[in-house]
Amino acid sequence: NLEQGPEGPETPIQVVLRVRPMSAAELRRGEQSVLHCSGTRTLQVSPPGGGPDVAFRFGAVLDGARTQEDVFRACGVRRLGDLALRGFSCTVFAFGQTGSGKTYTLTGPPPQGEGVPVPPSLAGITQRTFAWLLDRVQHLGAPVTLHASYLEIYNEQVRDLLSLGAPRPLPVRWNKTRGFYVEHLRVVEFGSLGALMELLQMGLSRRRSSAHTMNQASSRSHALLTIYISHQTMPPVDPGEPPAGGKLCFVDLAGSEKVAATGSRGELVIEANSINRSLLALGHCISLLLDPQRKQNHIPFRDSKLTKLLADSLGGRGVTLMVACVSPSAQCLPETLSTLRYASRAQ
Ligand code: ADP
Ligand code: MG
Repeated sequence: NLEQGPEGPETPIQVVLRVRPMSAAELRRGEQSVLHCSGTRTLQVSPPGGGPDVAFRFGAVLDGARTQEDVFRACGVRRLGDLALRGFSCTVFAFGQTGSGKTYTLTGPPPQGEGVPVPPSLAGITQRTFAWLLDRVQHLGAPVTLHASYLEIYNEQVRDLLSLGAPRPLPVRWNKTRGFYVEHLRVVEFGSLGALMELLQMGLSRRRSSAHTMNQASSRSHALLTIYISHQTMPPVDPGEPPAGGKLCFVDLAGSEKVAATGSRGELVIEANSINRSLLALGHCISLLLDPQRKQNHIPFRDSKLTKLLADSLGGRGVTLMVACVSPSAQCLPETLSTLRYASRAQ
């Protein structure tokens, strides 16, 4: 349980593994489950047709019986939230193949129909963190201002999920005070849980409709929801911009299929036909960050939009939590092994 982890950031990335339950379709097809938790930190993989089990260790391992609340607790997001309140940049990202449960883990299941609310017990890490954060801010009685932005990276183009007009691609820029940022991104101040949930729903429904019309675009796009926490004593950097402060970012990554982790020294090698430059760059930056010689390493954050926007949390004043998501089915085993290798090398 990462909740009990030491104070402050120590390793750049912490990894939690979540195995989703077998789906109705997988059960109907008679597929076997090949993953078993052993204790709270070890996952056993039993290859079908015999062969020795392979074990992987993570900060926490959660099986299909674990609830959304269990996952929230095991992820230690409260610790991340506290760090963000102290000015750190914190990121939670969900990694895994399409259909492995990334979106479910971060934001819960899609609504069952128009106007049918998702039960609170199924809310994801994002909503739970919102509720915790607002509660915490109120409890501290601190003069804190909160802003949110929500964007999608698709084909290396940034699209504002909260834009008022039709979204157009926005440029990513850099300057000394702000680091990397998206120009003209809509950043909305909010004061209540309800207001923030409305922003989340607006972005989620825009993502869904684009997935529908753009042939599964959501499996190829990264969605970044960022909360900016600023203490009111700090002046804004620019009018219309949130003041500098802590950040909490939730990233629903594109499906990891086609990203293969190979090599004996932990390099992440991407198949030649991969279309996702951001996922490739993320793996590459993580490898270099974990290299013991990293002080001398140049980290190529500039290689993709995603790594630029996550640079401060991955490399600077920040903490990153990866929730690796997998299906238990034997049919998914090749992709699952690739996710497990990627995730175990990230810690
Ligand atoms: P991804 O975002 O990785 O493509 P989803 O989150 O959309 O995957 O999950 C695929 C399907 O499995 C969805 O129908 C989702 O509601 C369901 N699902 C995922 N994880 C769980 C879980 N832990 N419990 C129940 N259903 C889940
Ligand atoms: Mg998804």
